Formats: sequence, C-alpha cells, structure tokens
Amino acid sequence: MFNSSLYQLGGALRAKKISSVELTQLYLERITALNPELNAYITLNPEISLAQAREADARIASGNAAALTGIPVAQKDIFCAKGWRTTCGSKMLHNFISPYDAHVIAQFNQAGAVNLGKTNMDEFAMGSSNETSYFGPVKNPWDKARVPGGSSGGTAAAVAARLCAAATGTDTGGSIRQPAALCGISGLKPTYGVCSRYGMIAFASSLDQAGPMGRSAEDLALMMNVMAGFDERDSTSLQRDKEDYARNLSKPLHGLRIGLPKEFFAEGLGSDVALAIEAAIAEYKKLGATIVDISLPNSKLSVPVYYVLAPAEASSNLSRFDGVRYGYRAPEYTDLADMYEKSRAQGFGAEVKRRIMIGTYVLSHGYYDAYYLQAQKIRRLIAQDFTEAYKQCDVIMGPTSPSTAFKLGEKGDDPVQMYLSDIYTIAVNLAGLPGMSIPCGFGDNNMPVGLQIIGNYFDEARMLNVAHQYQLATDWHSRAPQVL
Ligand code: GLN
Repeated sequence: MFNSSLYQLGGALRAKKISSVELTQLYLERITALNPELNAYITLNPEISLAQAREADARIASGNAAALTGIPVAQKDIFCAKGWRTTCGSKMLHNFISPYDAHVIAQFNQAGAVNLGKTNMDEFAMGSSNETSYFGPVKNPWDKARVPGGSSGGTAAAVAARLCAAATGTDTGGSIRQPAALCGISGLKPTYGVCSRYGMIAFASSLDQAGPMGRSAEDLALMMNVMAGFDERDSTSLQRDKEDYARNLSKPLHGLRIGLPKEFFAEGLGSDVALAIEAAIAEYKKLGATIVDISLPNSKLSVPVYYVLAPAEASSNLSRFDGVRYGYRAPEYTDLADMYEKSRAQGFGAEVKRRIMIGTYVLSHGYYDAYYLQAQKIRRLIAQDFTEAYKQCDVIMGPTSPSTAFKLGEKGDDPVQMYLSDIYTIAVNLAGLPGMSIPCGFGDNNMPVGLQIIGNYFDEARMLNVAHQYQLATDWHSRAPQVL
C-alpha cells in the first residue's frame, strides 16, 4: 500500500479493496512509529483525519468519488486549514488554530482527500535545511544525520518515508524543488498564479507559489488537477480554463529540444551531482530528445537579487505579527512599543529577524533606489534570458541543487553558504516560470540527486510528460529509504 501510486490507491478505494478509514489508520500508525525520529509532522489530528476518511468512504459508497477521494495527503504547515493548528514553523503562531481554509486546502476537501497532518517547515518558509523551524529540524530519511532540504523539508521527508501518499509544498526560491531533490522525490512548482495563495501564509508574495510533492510525475499530475484553479480571493490568481495535467503523460519524447544552460554546469556544482545529471541527459537522448546549448547570462545574479526582493516583501508581510492583530504576545511589557518589541523579539527566530532587517534596510529612504529598484530591473533581465532561451528549446534541464543533502548543523553558521543551495532554482521564481525536480540517481554518501526541469509559462503538462517518460524508463523515483 505504502508504495502504491495515487492512481492505484484511488482504484483500490473505489473497488473497496481498502476503505479510506483503514488506509488513514495505516498511515497514522506508521507516523506514530517513525515521526518521533524524523520530525516530519508538526501537528496531527487523527480525529479530523478519520472523520474526513469516514466522509470519503460514504462518498465512495454513493458512487461520487473523484480521483483523490479517500487518499491521505499531508499539508505543509504554511496552509491555513480550518480547525487545525497552523504554525508556519514559528513560535509566533505556535498556538494558532485557523478559523478558515486556504484555497488549496478547500480544493483538497472538495476532492474528498483526507488531511493527514501538517508538515514541518523552516520558519515562515525561510531556509534550505529545515533547521530554522521552531519545532526542531527534520531528518532526512536516507540518512538521519543529514538535512531534508527546505523549506518544505517536512513534506519531502514525509513523502520519502511513506508517511503520506503525497503532500503539498510551497516554493519561493526553491522550497519545493530543493527538498524534493535532497529526499529523492518529485516536486513541481507551477507557473506563478496557477495555484491560489489565499490562506497560504505569505513570505514574498511576488514569488510564493504552492505546488505538489510526491513519488512520481504521474502523482504530481493528479495533485495539480486538484490544486490549480482560479480564485478571486487572490488578486494574482490567473483566470484560465481548467486543464487536465495528466493529458500528455504518455506522449513520446521524439523531437523534444532540451536546453542545457552553461551557467548551471560551471564552478560550484558537485562532481557527483554532475555525473548523475549527465547520465539523465544521456537517457533523454535515448528517449529521442535533442540537446541545445543555451546561456542564461544573468542567472548568476539571481541569488543577490532574491536576497534583496524576498526580504523586502517579507519585512512588509511579517509586520502584521505584532502580538495584537496576529501572533504571539510577550507575557510582560511596560507600554505598547515595548509590547511590540518584546513580542517580535521573542516570537521570531534568528533567520526571520535577519530577513526583516535586510528587507527594512533595502526599502528605507535613501537605499530604495540603490537596492530595491536595481534588483527589480535585474529581475526583468533574468526573466528575459528565459524568453530568449525558449526560442531555441522546449524545456531547460540542469541540477536542482549544487550538492546532495548536507549534514545537520553543517551550514548553520554561514547564511551565504546556505543561500547558495538555491543557486539553480531561484531564477525560476524571479521569472515566474514553472520548475520541477525528479530523482535521477545517487551521489556521494548514497544521497539522492535531483534533476531540474524548467518549462515555459503554463507548460506544466509538458514538463510532467517529460518527467513521466523518464520515470517509465528508469526506476530512481521508486527507490525508498530504509527507515524502519
Ligand atoms: N531557501 C530560500 C530561502 O531561504 C527559498 C525558500 C523558499 O522557497 N520558501 O528564502
């Protein structure tokens, strides 16, 4: 059961080979056994999960089941879910019970999926290792001395360790793709605006995007069918016709043009990662693809640009957590100003404070033109590089992350080293493009390597096709860590 695809699980549920209650219980037992060590979940609520499972069973019995009805899916703890504690990995929200559902959560509810629990994450999605979570680090199921990546590290670990059938993540600069790569699973960040941000706690609003994480591209397609869709409560949600993300899965890849940006294979890339990526490209050639050498000349500026723009937006978004309107309030203070200061000083962790300070600095009078405006201009240049590249190729490929999973604590004192984990993923967010990561082998220390596939705007169905055909020809995606 734990290795079944979403299609297979849906089939088994509809054929009454297993009930949703039984399936949910199996997962909850596995979580009870493994989560104390992995720390992939922050909050479980078996009562709500099993009530949803009972409802799903009734819906299946009535013959009205949809593709995901009755399937236990975990939700990153950045999504507000009614009746669930929703912490965003922060002390600031450590006891916040959401009174409403995020749009993405509502879509899963409508599909009849079971919410299995809220997964651990870096505080306010700021991080690449899950070590900034107020609830403690997540361990990588492939080697518990290593990080799972971040910020969707709890989701990635839960999917890899079979603690859920699939799960959600969010990606502002790489937070779906990098942890997917480090945990040996598949993950997709859609085109900006495809999934509603309503009820998804904001980090950097012009970059944040929700997406699915799962064990195969086929599973991601089914998840996308539920998650994507227009929502008038998010002003950046795109009004487009509903599409079936699984519609292209079985297409052959003959004639596919794969662009390889020279900047993604330069200094800084681990040689073990490079080898696995080269082998994956060779496999794609066998599947009928042709290779085009391309250049993304401005992509080297993406990390510095991101670390101006994302903190700027974060400093504004996080100003609502003042202990009055939202969030933790310090127990003792002298006056109003002191209450704000103490609440924010005690409620936020070190990385979040660092971002708020950078963001406030780059937006302040006198620095705005020098940093924020310049960064916006370079953001445009980075996006234009992709537009040029897509004149010559259909998809772009390269590594997701420069290295495999590093040791817990290894980069804790060196924020810049940590920020460089996202060197290949951030440009995609700055351009608003869709990107995904799929497992393509193992590097040093037997840790998984992720292949990044970047598509043109709204080309998710093609990317899923490209990933699925590779997964039909290889079995990296079905390897599982020994966790028991
Ligand atoms: N690691 C990046 C950061 O720390 C990206 C995080 C994300 O995508 N949410 O900001």
